[in-house]
Amino acid sequence: MSGAASKVFDFIVIGGGSGGLACARRAASYKAKVALIEGSGRLGGTCVNVGCVPKKVMFNGASLKESFEDAKHYGFSIPGEIGFNWNAIKQSRDAYVKRLNGIYDRNVAKDGVEYIEGMGTIVGQNKVKVNDTIYEASKILIAVGGRPTIPKIEGSEYGIDSDGFFDLEQQPKKVAVVGTGYIGIEMAGIFKTLGTDTTVFSRTDQILRHHDSVIGETMMEEMERIGIKFVRRSGVNKVTKNDEVTAGDNRSELPYVLHYDQDGKSLSDKFDCILWAVGRHPNTQNLGLESVGVKTDKRGHIIVDEYQETGVPGVYSLGDVCGKSELTPVAIAAGRRLANRLFGGETFKNDKLDYTNIPTVIFGHPPAGTCGLTEPEACKKYGDENIKVYRSKFVNMYNALTPYKPPTIFKLIVTLPEEKVVGVHLIGRGSDEILQGFGVAMKMGATKKDFDSCVAIHPTSAEELVTMV
Ligand SMILES: Cc1cc2nc3c(=O)[nH]c(=O)nc-3n(C[C@H](O)[C@H](O)[C@H](O)COP(=O)(O)OP(=O)(O)OC[C@H]3O[C@@H](n4cnc5c(N)ncnc54)[C@H](O)[C@@H]3O)c2cc1C
Repeated sequence: MSGAASKVFDFIVIGGGSGGLACARRAASYKAKVALIEGSGRLGGTCVNVGCVPKKVMFNGASLKESFEDAKHYGFSIPGEIGFNWNAIKQSRDAYVKRLNGIYDRNVAKDGVEYIEGMGTIVGQNKVKVNDTIYEASKILIAVGGRPTIPKIEGSEYGIDSDGFFDLEQQPKKVAVVGTGYIGIEMAGIFKTLGTDTTVFSRTDQILRHHDSVIGETMMEEMERIGIKFVRRSGVNKVTKNDEVTAGDNRSELPYVLHYDQDGKSLSDKFDCILWAVGRHPNTQNLGLESVGVKTDKRGHIIVDEYQETGVPGVYSLGDVCGKSELTPVAIAAGRRLANRLFGGETFKNDKLDYTNIPTVIFGHPPAGTCGLTEPEACKKYGDENIKVYRSKFVNMYNALTPYKPPTIFKLIVTLPEEKVVGVHLIGRGSDEILQGFGVAMKMGATKKDFDSCVAIHPTSAEELVTMV
C-alpha cells in the first residue's frame, strides 16, 4: 500500500446505486469535492440494472398481455394466438437500461462528481483504496447495496437469481419460483402472465408474509385463479440434472429436477428454469469495515443511527446495506438528506429521513400497495380495543364486461377515538398508482374524517377510499 498515490476529496461515496448517486450529486450541488466509486462498471445500481426498472418493463409487458385478453370482451376481435417474443422485449429493455446508464454518467459529470471505476475498500481512517490508488476524505459514505441470496443446497448452481432473470434470452417453458417475498411474487406473476407454466414454492401456507394478510391472501387467490401453482409447506432440498437430458436421447426440454419435501413426503418435479427468490444480503464482505471498526448486525447489515452515522467518526451508511426499508426512494431520500446535513449549512443541520409511513407497491398480478402498520402491528402498538378496521371489497368497473370478476380490496386501519389513519392496504387494479397520494395524507396525520371530507372522483376505484363506512 505504501507508495500508492493519494487523492483528497471532501466526500467519498462507495457505491453508485440509488442512494450513493443521490447523495454524491446533492453533496456536489453544495460545492463539495466528491468522488463516487462504483465497482460494477455501470452506474444506477440494483434499481436501474437488475431491479425496479427492468422489472417494471416486464410488468408493463405482462399487463399488456392481460389487456389483449380483456379486449375481446370490449368488442375487439383479436384473431388467433397473440404472439409474444421474450427476446425482443429483452433487447429493447437492455437498450433502455443502457440509455439510463449513459444519462447517469452524464449527470454525474455535469454535477462535477469524480466517477472512479473499481471496487472500493476502506483501508484506514479516511482512506479508501481502488485498484492501486488511495483516496482520502474526512467523510465517507458506504452505499454498496446488497445482492440475491442463493440457498446452500446441492445443485443450487442450476438455478438463477433475480439478476439472472434479466439475463434470460428466451422465455422458459416451466419455471419454479422458490420464495414468496415481493420479488418472487412479482416475477412469478410476470412469467405466468406472459405464458410460462409457473409453480411457486412456499415454506408456509402464506405468501408476502411481511405485509398485511389481506394482501397475501388475496394475491394468492388471484395468482391461483390465473393458473399459478403453489406448493405450500414445502422445503426445497436439492436440484439435480434430468437424466433424460444427460442420457442424450429422449431429450427433455426440462433439464432440471427440483427435489422437495412437503408434509413429510419427498417429492420432485422437472423444470427448465429455477428462480431462487429467497432473500438478499448486504455487500459488506471485503469492504474493509473492520479496518476502521464499522459494526454490522448478525445478517451483515451496517448498523447506523437515525442520522445514518455508523458510530465511526466521518463514516456514514444508507440504503439496502443497512437493511431497513430496502427500496430505491428510501435510499435516495436518505442520501439527499445526509448530503443536506453534511454540506448544506445551518438550514439542514438536523436533516434526516423519517422512516415511518413509507408507501410501497408489489407489482403483482394484481398490483398491491401498502403504507403504515399492518393490522397485527397496529394491535400490538395501540391495543386491540384502540383500533378499528374499515374494509371495502368490490369489483373494479374495468371488469364490468369481463367474465371473471377479480376482487379489489381496500383496508384502512385507524386508531380510536380520533380515527387517525395508521395503515392503508390496497390490492386490485390501480392500487399501485392510487397509493402515493394517500401516503401524503398519512404523512400529514390524516384521520378517517379527513379522508371522508374529500369528495370522491367517480367512477374510479380510488373513490372507495373516501367513502368507506
Ligand atoms: C428484482 C428487484 C426489484 C426491485 N423492485 C423495486 C421496486 O419496484 N421499487 C423499489 O423502490 N425498490 C425495488 N427494489 C429495491 C431497490 O433496487 C433497492 O432498494 C435500491 O437499489 C437500493 O439502493 P442502494 O443505493 O442501497 O444500493 P444499490 O442500488 O444496490 O447500489 C449499490 C451499488 O454499489 C456497488 N458496489 C457494491 N460494492 C462496492 C464496492 N466495494 N465498491 C464500489 N461499488 C460497490 C454496486 O455495484 C451497486 O451499483 C428492487 C430490487 C430488486 C432486486
